[in-house]
Amino acid sequence: MKLVALPAFTDNYLWLWHNDQKAIVVDPGQAGPVLEALTRLNLSLEAILVTHHHKDHIGGIPELQQKTNALVFGPEHSAMPQPFQALNDKDHVQLLDQTLEVLHVPGHTASHLAYLTSKPSSQGDQILFCGDTLFSGGCGRLFEGTPEQMLNSLAKFKSLRDETQVCCAHEYTLSNLKFALHIEPQNTRLLSYNSHCHKLRQQHLPTLPSNIGLEKEINPFLRAHLPSVQQSAQLFDPKAVDELGCFAALREWKNTF
Ligand code: ZN
Ligand code: FE
Repeated sequence: MKLVALPAFTDNYLWLWHNDQKAIVVDPGQAGPVLEALTRLNLSLEAILVTHHHKDHIGGIPELQQKTNALVFGPEHSAMPQPFQALNDKDHVQLLDQTLEVLHVPGHTASHLAYLTSKPSSQGDQILFCGDTLFSGGCGRLFEGTPEQMLNSLAKFKSLRDETQVCCAHEYTLSNLKFALHIEPQNTRLLSYNSHCHKLRQQHLPTLPSNIGLEKEINPFLRAHLPSVQQSAQLFDPKAVDELGCFAALREWKNTF
């Protein structure tokens, strides 16, 4: 299986996962980049996986449904283009001889889903398609959820293998790292990752996929349990004295940073 990041809009990635014949796309906010890639790589589109109902993740679906035979899968109880197959936490989807596990990860939206590919094999590490829940160096805004829900959702990701590749839906890494460095100016892994990502972006290359092990070391939203991170967050909100308080403070602070 091969993984391709298709840039869309100004900072979205539509993730294409394929076996040189058939493909799956995650969150096609636009149809154009997907149709172009299907033609260029000579692939047929088997399925569309949706993490959440925001326009930049579903906008291309009607056109793709019209022009391909792709099945659409997405979260139950959400404003999805019809027809689609509704999924819930712990469901499994069989596509292209692969099994994907569905994780319900509320916070950014109430019904947000993530998709995890099956156990690592000779074909490589597991892949997590996490939509707008986790970004490299950051996390999604809380439009329909509480800090507690989002913290629980991110805890599900932290429990995955360190090698799990993280396919986020946006290229927000540099601005996230600017905030992360404000929280942890002495984090040496963060400092070197920041210069690495600057070099990638200068060459117009994606900073993604990331991986779980790296994110646990550099992403402040996965580090709210650490006393040093809590101390930084207290500069914004003195109530940031435990993991949840710290996470909530970081999320609020980042909104206006
Ligand atoms: Zn969104
Ligand atoms: Fe988005």
